[in-house]
Amino acid sequence: MTIAKPRHLLDGSHRRMFIGGAWVDAASGETFETRNPATGEVIATVPRASKKDIERAVAAARNAFDGPWSRFKPHERQKLLLKIADLFERHWEEICVSDTTDMGLPIARARGNANRVLGMLRYYAGMATALHGQTIDNSLAGDIVSYTRKEAIGVVGAIIPWNAPTAASVWKIGPALATGCTVVLKPSEEAPLTPLLIAELMAEAGVPDGVVNVVTGTGAEAGAPLAEHTGVDKIVFTGSTATGQSIVRASAGNLKRVSLELGGKSPVIVCADADLERAVPVAAMSVFANSGQVCIAGSRLFVARSIHDEFVARLAAYAAGLRIGNGIDPETEIGPLISPRQLQRVEGYLRAGSEEGARLVAGGTRLSQGALAAGNFIAPTVFAGVSDTMRIAREEIFGPVISALPFDTLDEVVRRANDTPYGLAAGVFTRDLATAHQLSRRLQAGSVWVNTYHAIDPAVPFGGYKMSGYGREGGSEHLDEYLNTKGVFIRID
Ligand code: NAD
Repeated sequence: MTIAKPRHLLDGSHRRMFIGGAWVDAASGETFETRNPATGEVIATVPRASKKDIERAVAAARNAFDGPWSRFKPHERQKLLLKIADLFERHWEEICVSDTTDMGLPIARARGNANRVLGMLRYYAGMATALHGQTIDNSLAGDIVSYTRKEAIGVVGAIIPWNAPTAASVWKIGPALATGCTVVLKPSEEAPLTPLLIAELMAEAGVPDGVVNVVTGTGAEAGAPLAEHTGVDKIVFTGSTATGQSIVRASAGNLKRVSLELGGKSPVIVCADADLERAVPVAAMSVFANSGQVCIAGSRLFVARSIHDEFVARLAAYAAGLRIGNGIDPETEIGPLISPRQLQRVEGYLRAGSEEGARLVAGGTRLSQGALAAGNFIAPTVFAGVSDTMRIAREEIFGPVISALPFDTLDEVVRRANDTPYGLAAGVFTRDLATAHQLSRRLQAGSVWVNTYHAIDPAVPFGGYKMSGYGREGGSEHLDEYLNTKGVFIRID
């Protein structure tokens, strides 16, 4: 496959943000740099938005919501989403290059996301004409008809992290377009470029001015004013649990609705009867994919004691065999971490693991030979001899680090797997159907995968239990997050 020439050169030139259908700079005129995490090179400067810019974007989104957009029929919104999907398909390689260059995702993985992202857009297109309330028989005196209407919630503020800019943008904007909402999207300051490209494709598809706005800036300067803004009806957020908590606090001013996709410390349980040929690579890539910068990373690996040593040895060999490098090389399996700061954070966990007595069986260091020296590369790492109380077993690392923990009984592993403030995902490997069902039922997580991992489908709800957040993305529940339900009573006697 050849690599398409991106429409933006990613050569350090300036890009503007998208407000009210216009490409604009920040009111302050300030900018910030975004770098390629594999090389350290500056690939663009973008506006450093602040409260004034957020106000402008929210006003544009409100005008659009009150304007002709509200008269778009469901089938017109559907047509628009289908057109966007077609444009995405045509420009898919460009989108992949942008993600790879701005946040390091290996291009082979980026290309592999096509079905999911295009599928999401087409799923929301389908849902645009499937929204409906209900007629409900009531017990009131007299002859009164009652029914519900589903109505677009209004202006949605969407705040996303760096680790999957394309999928996260589409997961926020797609349902907004399907339901008739308008959006102000604030991408991560670490990876703002693909959302800007997405805004361009949306405009090209004919999304009316102000319906989708993309404002670049930091969390404190642009994210917080968006979360607080009383003209915003709803915040959809993906990011860390700590930021999610501050968003909930910020939402109190107008009690805007909030949905949160937050962090995780997901357990993967490998039973003694598991198919190891399948379990080893899937368990490894449940964490190592995207260099561990995955909210659903299966970073607590519980392995039945009878197969523990063999499993860990195979996992370590698998980790050592992964090809690490600049993600733009189609052979690369593991790219860099997003930033020097994230690199230091993960290195801190590597030290903590060793200091607390875990046994390093693979990786464990920064990679800085040759071309890797300029980037933020960490070797895929496996710790064994980990206990449940160690920091590496309790805290979200967001790096390519697996902690292996032996277990003896199912009751014990369920208790230990659930002993975490998080509840985003869980994995199970077993050939026994009863075990599969029992564990799926007993694990406290929004998604449970048996003999697979990372399975996310546009039609199936995804989201967290406990401190991994609330609200669902995917499936019809996702559309409900963008809708208000109105009860209507009409007396007809
Ligand atoms: P983060 O919380 O630091 O930042 C996420 C976004 O929030 C960024 O756009 C940032 O600018 C913004 N932000 C920061 N402070 C803010 C504030 N006070 N008010 C409003 N916005 C603010 O997260 P991150 O470090 O970019 O991403 C990693 C985290 O995201 C991890 O915890 C990971 O688990 C989580 N994540 C969750 C999912 C999921 O679906 N559950 C998916 C991907 C990532």
